Amino acid sequence: MKRTYIPLALLLTLLTACTNGWTRSEKELINSAAYSRMRVTKVDNTADSLLLRTSSTPLTHRDIHAPEFGRLVASMIETVCDPENSGVGIAAPQVGILRRVVVVQRMDKEGTPFEIYVNPEIISYGADVAMGSEGCLSVPNLRGEVRRATSIVLRWRDPVDFSAREEHIEGFTAVIFQHEIDHLDGIIYTDRATTLSQE
Ligand code: ZN
Repeated sequence: MKRTYIPLALLLTLLTACTNGWTRSEKELINSAAYSRMRVTKVDNTADSLLLRTSSTPLTHRDIHAPEFGRLVASMIETVCDPENSGVGIAAPQVGILRRVVVVQRMDKEGTPFEIYVNPEIISYGADVAMGSEGCLSVPNLRGEVRRATSIVLRWRDPVDFSAREEHIEGFTAVIFQHEIDHLDGIIYTDRATTLSQE
């Protein structure tokens, strides 16, 4: 059998890819924020709106153990807690990162903590739906009425050990998850709203 040689440049590329799955531009954006607030992408900015309409990529076990992951989620929490423009949830595309991670304020838990959800997906919707008012950090000065399921079953990966998790979630928190997971698929609540009004 003939021996095959891997060219050095290819070997270095493969080694780099194995050490960290974050792209250079993702690293630059995350590291420039360095645990502090990031600029929120907005639908009225052309480049931002194209990004907000793009589907995000799942995170791997390796991605969450790279330093960029901790910096990104810390910055997302800082951004959603900005007193000038605070929210109850934020998805990574809203800070310019096309990765499947969201931060959601658990209105159904004591102390209403912000929690991190990696690769979240809704695996089933309850039969009941209700209309509710929504706004979005990426859509300035607008609110809309949106019909959403009042309960969901959520599946995600634990941000510490990447284990698979599942939970039945109800009420306004279930609505926040539906809104934020839509962002990971390039969907904005205005697509689903029956009425929109200036805030
Ligand atoms: Zn939003």
